Amino acid sequence: MFEKVLIANRGEIALRIHRACREMGIQTVAVHSTADSDAMHVRLADESVCIGPPPSRDSYLNGQAIISAAIIAGADAIHPGVGFLSENAEFAEMVEEHGFAFIGPSPEHIRVMGDKITAKEAVKKLGISVVPGSDGPVSEDAEAIRIAGGIGYPVLVKAVAGGGGRGMKVAHDASEISAVLAHCRAESLASFGNDTVYIEKYLGNPRHIEIQVFGDGHGNAIHFGERDCSIQRRHQKVIEEAPSPALDAATRAGIGKRAADATAALKYRGAGTFEFLYEDGEFHFIEMNTRLQVEHPVSELISGVDLVQQQLRIAAGEPLKLKQSDIVLSGHAIECRVTAEHPETFAPSPGLITEYHAPGGPGVRVDSALYTGYRVSPHYDSLVSKLVVHADSRAECIMRLQRALDEYVVSGIETTIPLHRRLLAAEAFQTGNYDIHWLEKYLAD
Ligand code: ADP
Repeated sequence: MFEKVLIANRGEIALRIHRACREMGIQTVAVHSTADSDAMHVRLADESVCIGPPPSRDSYLNGQAIISAAIIAGADAIHPGVGFLSENAEFAEMVEEHGFAFIGPSPEHIRVMGDKITAKEAVKKLGISVVPGSDGPVSEDAEAIRIAGGIGYPVLVKAVAGGGGRGMKVAHDASEISAVLAHCRAESLASFGNDTVYIEKYLGNPRHIEIQVFGDGHGNAIHFGERDCSIQRRHQKVIEEAPSPALDAATRAGIGKRAADATAALKYRGAGTFEFLYEDGEFHFIEMNTRLQVEHPVSELISGVDLVQQQLRIAAGEPLKLKQSDIVLSGHAIECRVTAEHPETFAPSPGLITEYHAPGGPGVRVDSALYTGYRVSPHYDSLVSKLVVHADSRAECIMRLQRALDEYVVSGIETTIPLHRRLLAAEAFQTGNYDIHWLEKYLAD
């Protein structure tokens, strides 16, 4: 096992990885920008290295600075966390070329499965159905209009390199195609440095259901069931739960097995997530995330398995000791993503935390790097806390989460805690009868 792991990330996910390492007796090295000198991940790590100024491109996205930090600290592995460089194949390659273990899949798998078009092609060959759409990138407007006409409107134009809900837009008819293509290309070029786009049928009322998989890189793989991430705003997840209120045991086992079999066939190494849109009883693959997911805690709570520790074991070359029959899912878990935003206008709300009190008690987990006196920086993602609750049944889980939200005190900045209270009380959430478009409609009413 590794002796020292460098965590190439910040905030709650850096803390999460630190905790997994600590419990395995592994030392941790934090990296940080000058804006994060007082951050919790820096305070708790065994060592820390400053890697640059506040903008991410000069610090958390600066692969060379991170490799230098790993060399200086004498780390033997690098965990990229989520976001930042976690799905950057060149970074993974650079990590391995410098003799460090990359705690994630091989650069080849990141390249193929992290690209939405090649991932769709790869899973199609493995017998998984995908959302209907263009066979590859679409470059000319006339070609786009021809393809969209064949699929049927509305269609969704999506950036190959897109993420976080950016780089996608709906076209309702042929007259909108040119403007939508131009918008997606420009947004994707600005955000991801790549303007390649493709087209998919825009589904009217699907749920977003994803399967957590793990492979050992040698053809063995297991799954941890699904997460339902249909509560979304601007194509970004707001609440996630497991199991999905929409699946029965047979459907769960079926899609889980298909995803695990694909993982095994690909000889995929480490944690991955197959994302599907589920409509009228059919699963349509949209993309694979070749990394840990923000919402991984809900799977941990229903399975009792520490997924980050599994990542560390596999990256260190240990065989996958868990068999599918060892994965017993029990009870229900729900995660609320708490962001530093106004709960109604969603205006960003960085600033000083004047008072902080996290909820506790049975079944409550808070993954957050906040503390009283901490200043939430405007430079980074607005996610400041994940409140995750586990209980025997979905109804008890909702009650427990409402109780925990009522206990949660974050003063000095606006957060989305009041929004979560509202959503949990909504009838559609209580009955589990929602799809990916529900939240936007609910907020508009
Ligand atoms: P990102 O990488 O930005 O997260 P995804 O491809 O995972 O993009 O899609 C994010 C969300 O956008 C999905 O969960 C879903 O709500 C919506 N979405 C994506 N593709 C489609 C589609 N073909 N039809 C309807 N909604 C979609």
